[in-house]
Amino acid sequence: MTTVVKSRIRRDDDVIVTAGRDKGSRGKVIRVMASDGQVLVSKINMIKRHTRQSQASAGGIIEKEAPLAISNVQYYCSKCKSGVRLGAKTLEDGSKVRTCRKCGEVLDK
Ligand SMILES: [Zn+2]
Repeated sequence: MTTVVKSRIRRDDDVIVTAGRDKGSRGKVIRVMASDGQVLVSKINMIKRHTRQSQASAGGIIEKEAPLAISNVQYYCSKCKSGVRLGAKTLEDGSKVRTCRKCGEVLDK
């Protein structure tokens, strides 16, 4: 049984890695796999893959992102210049937005 990890991280968010090999690195979220509790972040957790020669490619070694645990990344707040926890807020017009818990900045426009 898989545990669905509740996270407010979304695609295209800027995140900072808080644990593991790429600790302290920043990247953009490519994909959120909520049911696996994992995220793909651009240029983070790169792995080398050997591909066989085919008509489509010359083969060789390609580098690609490997998923990492969603709990190992935090939203990067450009105002706080650090990883922060996200809060939620309902605006006057009824729309829900995410906020930085540190500085209170509304992150969704
Ligand atoms: Zn902030």
